[in-house]
Amino acid sequence: MELSRSARWGAVAVAVASFFVTAAAPAPAPGAPGIGDPYFPELGNGGFDARHYALDIAYDPDTDRLDGRTTLTARATQNLSSFDLDLQGLDVTRVQVDGRRAAFTRDGDELRVTPRDFLRKGRDFRVAVTYGGVPEPLSGPIVFGSEYGWMKTPDGVFVACEPNAASTWFPSSDHPSDKATYDIRIKAPRGLTGVSNGRLVSTYDKGGSTYTHWRESRPMASYLATATIGKFDVRTGRTPGGTPIYVAIDPVLADSNSVDVYAVTAAATDYWSELFGPYPFEETGAIVDDMPEAGFSLEVQSKPAYSAVRSETTIVHELAHQWFGDSVSVAHWKDIWLNEGFATYAQWLWSEHQGTRTAHDSFLAGYDSRPAGNAFWQTLPGDPQRDTMFASAVYQRGAMTLQVLRERIGDDAFFRLLPAWTKLHRYGNADTADFVRLAEKVSGQRLGDLFDTWLFTPGKPAL
Ligand SMILES: [Zn+2]
Repeated sequence: MELSRSARWGAVAVAVASFFVTAAAPAPAPGAPGIGDPYFPELGNGGFDARHYALDIAYDPDTDRLDGRTTLTARATQNLSSFDLDLQGLDVTRVQVDGRRAAFTRDGDELRVTPRDFLRKGRDFRVAVTYGGVPEPLSGPIVFGSEYGWMKTPDGVFVACEPNAASTWFPSSDHPSDKATYDIRIKAPRGLTGVSNGRLVSTYDKGGSTYTHWRESRPMASYLATATIGKFDVRTGRTPGGTPIYVAIDPVLADSNSVDVYAVTAAATDYWSELFGPYPFEETGAIVDDMPEAGFSLEVQSKPAYSAVRSETTIVHELAHQWFGDSVSVAHWKDIWLNEGFATYAQWLWSEHQGTRTAHDSFLAGYDSRPAGNAFWQTLPGDPQRDTMFASAVYQRGAMTLQVLRERIGDDAFFRLLPAWTKLHRYGNADTADFVRLAEKVSGQRLGDLFDTWLFTPGKPAL
């Protein structure tokens, strides 16, 4: 549908140009409603590049109501007559482009904005969307059958949005390939704390409300944004290696938590910095919330968000994602093993570091325990399909792939490859082909057969 619409615009442009015999720039055309992800065709948007979001969020846990204003600074990548943002649910009351009222329509999860004047390619523009309503979490098979997104807790909200729920609480180009920086301002009832990405700029009480302003000055994928609100005990400081750390723990969990979140976060941040390259963000930390219904934790940028399920291995996993997933992000969601396979492998490296089990033995434990007939071996980590993008094979077989690679190219090349990868694609996006290319370059070996077998061929690979 949309393709034929752009094609029609193209045809009109050609007709107009030839009639007037001008060599004008391409006529303005609507931006595409999706960024071209095979698993999520509608996510992200074409025609512009998101650069900075200023999110203003007011949330009332008593009514569940969110009132928001999102101001997105973006750069047009074509002459734009209109463009889309992703927004699921909620009501839009006003849209402005560069300070002037703009027309808008809703079509499913798309918010289509038509500015008064077309936007010229290469130009920065600001779109401000005023909106509100009760955000609904998403559900379905994707995230282990759990709800995810904007999830109400006893004292506020837990916000963890991978892969497609950021647009349930703010209008966005909701795809990891369109990263931006963020200012996030949260207004909540006095006594509650709003915790978000990056560093705390300011917090103060006024009237019956607490205002908190966070700034993420490093590029961030939309699904890694959070505005988690509730009662929190906060501890701040620096890791022994010098990285600022901010750990917020729901006081309800203070005595039930068998792991020292602060200490493990600090130790893992420092150890991964030795192995994977400099810590990519301005602060590390954790958000530990009372959210047992969410059966998952998420590598929220700079502060992983932990639901009631957490352990030392979960913490080291989510912190490894700060490099693999958050700084180096997937180009498309089918590349998800570049996040989960690597973070799982990091758990094996952590055990090796602790002296409890070598990565080789972790590999064998996973490999030997699954006979060839096990359905596990039918999921392809390199293209697991949308509804099974978080299947255990993406994690475990993905990690096995890295161990096989390590044993093929040797420790020296392998431990040069990991920091080379995080350096080459720092704050950017990459896909599996990029990783294969770099692994071949660093090792000086042809590795196509290894990755074909382990990522793209059904069945249990022979050793
Ligand atoms: Zn993970």
